Amino acid sequence: MAHKLVELPYATDALEPHIDARTMEIHHGKHHAAYVNNLNAALEKYPELQTKSLADLLGNLAAVPDDIRTAVRNNGGGVYNHNLFWEMMSPKGGQPSSELVRALNQSFGSFEAFREAFTKAAATRFGSGWAWLTVKDDGKLCVCSSPNQDNPIMRGVSECPGRILLTLDVWEHAYYLKYQNRRPDYIAAWWNVVNWEKVNELYRALT
Ligand code: MN
Repeated sequence: MAHKLVELPYATDALEPHIDARTMEIHHGKHHAAYVNNLNAALEKYPELQTKSLADLLGNLAAVPDDIRTAVRNNGGGVYNHNLFWEMMSPKGGQPSSELVRALNQSFGSFEAFREAFTKAAATRFGSGWAWLTVKDDGKLCVCSSPNQDNPIMRGVSECPGRILLTLDVWEHAYYLKYQNRRPDYIAAWWNVVNWEKVNELYRALT
């Protein structure tokens, strides 16, 4: 099996009360696991693709054979995005660094304006998808959302192609057990568990 389900970097109840343990168990143990299994199944008849990294596969979907391209886009995206998402949360996430705050101020006017833009992107994504903060090729920070399991490393697909700094899963499976239809409440709670230390690290690596 080329791809494996990563372990959560914390206990399933570590993000309580903002993200509940039952949601984490099902989200990671069932949904994320299914993306891993479906990705491996799609790659079964293409051994030469099994050793490629997910970033390579998703960054050049045009090179993936027609008959598995959609499966790789959906399930490979699902694996990649969730791997990131778990890292983007922590019970002790710290604060955004002064360098990151300065960059957010430059791109959005203020930290609060960035938060509002990200919250809006997450809240208004119709159906299932993700919100993103990225650094584009020109160095500007950018907020957008994407449908399904699409993401900013899929060139030609994303509205904010670039390097990912932060992401939020807004599929109903990420919040329905605790928040039901109240996606805005889930988003508001999620800000309490953002792992700024991880975001700082990702930003530092780019500068
Ligand atoms: Mn999810």
